[in-house]
Amino acid sequence: MNYQELANLIFPEAKPISYYEEKYPERNLKEGAIVTRFAPSPTGFVHIGGLYQSLIAKKLAQQTGGVFFLRIEDTDQKREIDNGITEIVESLKFFDIQADEGMISETESKGNYAPYKQSQRKEIYQAYAKYLIEQGKAYPCFCTPEEIEEIRAKQETAKIRHGYYGIWAKCRNYTLEEMAEKIKNNEDYIIRFKSPGREDRKIKHHDIIKGNIDFPENDQDIVIIKADGLPTYHFAHAVDDHLMKTTHVIRGDEWLSSVPLHLQLFHELGFKAPKYAHIAPIMKNDNGNKRKLSKRKDLEAAVSYYEEEGIPEVAVKEYLLNIANSNFENWRRANQDKPIDEFELQLSKMSVSGALFDMVKLLDIGKTVISRMTAQEVYEKALVWAKKHDEELVKMLEQDKQYSLKVLGIERGNKKPRKDISKWSELKENIAYLYDEQFYEQPQQYPYQVIQDKEEIEKILTLYLEKYYNEKDDKQTWFDNIKELAGQMGYSKEVKEFKENPGKYKAHVGDVSTVLRVALTGRTNTPDMYEIMQIFGKERIAKRFEKAMKQ
Ligand code: GLU
Repeated sequence: MNYQELANLIFPEAKPISYYEEKYPERNLKEGAIVTRFAPSPTGFVHIGGLYQSLIAKKLAQQTGGVFFLRIEDTDQKREIDNGITEIVESLKFFDIQADEGMISETESKGNYAPYKQSQRKEIYQAYAKYLIEQGKAYPCFCTPEEIEEIRAKQETAKIRHGYYGIWAKCRNYTLEEMAEKIKNNEDYIIRFKSPGREDRKIKHHDIIKGNIDFPENDQDIVIIKADGLPTYHFAHAVDDHLMKTTHVIRGDEWLSSVPLHLQLFHELGFKAPKYAHIAPIMKNDNGNKRKLSKRKDLEAAVSYYEEEGIPEVAVKEYLLNIANSNFENWRRANQDKPIDEFELQLSKMSVSGALFDMVKLLDIGKTVISRMTAQEVYEKALVWAKKHDEELVKMLEQDKQYSLKVLGIERGNKKPRKDISKWSELKENIAYLYDEQFYEQPQQYPYQVIQDKEEIEKILTLYLEKYYNEKDDKQTWFDNIKELAGQMGYSKEVKEFKENPGKYKAHVGDVSTVLRVALTGRTNTPDMYEIMQIFGKERIAKRFEKAMKQ
């Protein structure tokens, strides 16, 4: 019995690897172009950390004229759920991080390196496992789960490293004949890699993010093909990223410690290893303890949360770029009108340790992003969100589109646009008082400030409408008129005058303005009152004042 015969016995059907090597040729890309991927498991949950990784991977591919693809890692079929792939594809689409190649639905893919779903690549992995067996670099292992547990228990008692290595790698030592015999006797087995490594030797590795690291060599005979015929993550990673021509593996840093194993696998398979960039996870401050954002504990860990809250996609991406490269913030300030695609992301500038997730900052970016939109854009985006999450807002926005555009256009499109909405779920509350239906339906509070006297308020409102308000006035005239009104009623026309000579006036023009504002809107804080009055028109102003006076 020789290796070749053993390999044929185990994988009689497998094709020679030359078949796949020819089927998947080198990519025809320009010098310096990099190939990256996002390789999630279809668990039905897309973590913000996954979005972060794919944003970075996509951007780097895009910047260099390379390729970004989506590979579905579904070899752990216990963890899978229905529509798990759709969820991932839709999330990437929502954030406009679409892959150039890979899965595009539960069953379909695009691109020349298909299949992009690992469960459909079984024969490929088996071909490469067979190749390793032929070289004497992999072998069948007949240990039962009980035997593996026994080894673990012994290692535990002896306080030594766990795993299947060295003297513990029992099945390594069977003769080829013994192996064949067991297979013919229908004993269950899996395939293990025969590691050539030694723990007392070091390897040097350069990670693009983490820098130079020395690791002990891998000496574990890890499982490469499981009992169900599917590969483990490690083996699939080596085979897939080789065949799909990945140049840069950008992944979570929980995989950093597997690098020695992965490099060894690439080497033993005769593949050129990719470059690695291990990204630190996004962290959360939990009562003074820094921990990873958790799927179980933190709503904001799920990508779906941002859509539900209506935080603009671009804001989420800008925030993630902020975490990725701290110079992004300066770039953004200097290039306010440029799309983020123009920012040059650098892997080497990424932080070695995990950044703290900062919702306040994200929402602040949300405000800036929304402030830069036109009324039309706000209208459209808010409507898309509302159609999924808030029927009442849909009604408000659609009832009179032109009016809504005016409302959303208040203090917009100028040099210092309003910055009071960070997410679509805040919009209704923010603008409801500008819609008569909402305004008259709700019991109204009138939080007057300095001027509280009912009669005085009535006088101000009446006189204003009778004598000082004119729809056609420009802003300056409008404001001058309020000053006149103030003056006529014994208030100072300038705040300064009042401060210099408080005994001389009842209060100042600002206090008079506040009366108008509160009567008009029920609020002390609103965007520009001139614009509000403009979109209301005299009749509606009068009606609102009447209601205020009846209160
Ligand atoms: N399926 C692995 C994960 O979700 C992929 C890691 C990688 O990018 O290689 O963690």
